[in-house]
Amino acid sequence: MPQVTAKRKHPISAKRKKRRLVFGVSLGFILLVILTLVIFGGGKGDRQQKSADGGEAKAVLSPATAPTPSAAPTPTPPAGPLICIDPGHGYSDGGSESQYLDEYGMTEKDINLPVALKVRDILVQNGYNVIMTRDSDEIPEGADADGDGFYYRKTEEIARFANETGCEYFFSIHCDSYPADESVSGTRFYYYNNGAGKPYEWVSAIAAGFQETTGIEPKIIEKTDDNAYNVLRYAESTAGLVELGFISNKEEAEKLMSEEYQALLAEGIANGIMKYIPLS
Ligand SMILES: [Zn+2]
Repeated sequence: MPQVTAKRKHPISAKRKKRRLVFGVSLGFILLVILTLVIFGGGKGDRQQKSADGGEAKAVLSPATAPTPSAAPTPTPPAGPLICIDPGHGYSDGGSESQYLDEYGMTEKDINLPVALKVRDILVQNGYNVIMTRDSDEIPEGADADGDGFYYRKTEEIARFANETGCEYFFSIHCDSYPADESVSGTRFYYYNNGAGKPYEWVSAIAAGFQETTGIEPKIIEKTDDNAYNVLRYAESTAGLVELGFISNKEEAEKLMSEEYQALLAEGIANGIMKYIPLS
């Protein structure tokens, strides 16, 4: 119920006026005391504050000369166009298999994901706007509707997901396998003219940055209508894909499983992306 304020019926008496005056003066005094406490007490608190990096502030400076406290770096909001990074396969779809990875209970997806996450981290640290098609290998809650523990996404679903994010650029990360000839090795970048943007420019720039960082000379291959990967075919963004190396090649498989090599590959990809999309 709203409170009803009683209307004043009589003019204010002299006694009441006096009481009001006393009350006004007291209130003014209290406010003055509070103000003084805030000004001086607050200043003291500032001087006792710890510095942003956790150490005690050493110098006691007057407010006029106090430097702006070096607060923890506030993350800059991401800039530039939205880039979607796709760690190939995942969940129940392990991707390609190889005896060399199998020894460690790994499949292709176990290389794609850490490399893609590292690419994301580098881009994010540099202020880029990044989204992943997945950032974990754990089946999302509710995704395995029939509860049989089996769940994977079709490549066209991955492309659809990427399209729904509204990303301008899409990049998918995979590993190759060619058991028929284990001597085959090397990094290959793929593009397909899906009608969006300039995929050749996008992919060749990433390949160039990759080579600059890693020293690995990759091949750049165009996919055609007959053999395009679905993620490239159905992407509505400037899209590209890398096959980091051949897990069917013993030497390359062993390198691909090492964290240092994964970090180097990721650095190379991120370098290429950042060169193609400079943030200024
Ligand atoms: Zn793959």
